[in-house]
Amino acid sequence: MLYNKDMSSIFSKIIMGEIPCYKIYEDDKTLAFLDINPEVMGHVLVVPKVEVDKIYDLSDEDYQALMATVKKLAKHMEEVLGARTLMKVVGTDVPHAHVHLTPLDEKWEYGKTLKPTEAEMQEMVEKLALK
Ligand code: 5GP
Repeated sequence: MLYNKDMSSIFSKIIMGEIPCYKIYEDDKTLAFLDINPEVMGHVLVVPKVEVDKIYDLSDEDYQALMATVKKLAKHMEEVLGARTLMKVVGTDVPHAHVHLTPLDEKWEYGKTLKPTEAEMQEMVEKLALK
């Protein structure tokens, strides 16, 4: 079983399709979608479908699957957006392991989040979606 319905983190609800997301990529072990409170435009979260709190709680197989998606997507983001992709693991807000991918942006400020419109989020999905 990939996730435990009783635990159901917000990210498991997204994985199960109970909550919508701006999907960028999906395979059998991972899902990537836009962060709802982006620090910069093109802020992506990559999550394992299995629900564990911390990234180092993942099995080696699930960790490797997560990192394979992170690498593939970061390279793709660099190509499409023409900016270095930064990778960050925090995990203080959502107890479901995840990696943040953000394009390097000179205007980034610590603690500041943007308020993109629905159309801007959709436009970013169209740019970044990876089959
Ligand atoms: P962290 O746990 O790494 O500190 O941050 C969790 C991230 O998840 C935050 O950047 C927050 O904006 C994002 N987040 C929290 N809830 C949702 C949600 O329902 N949908 C999406 N797309 N992102 C979320």
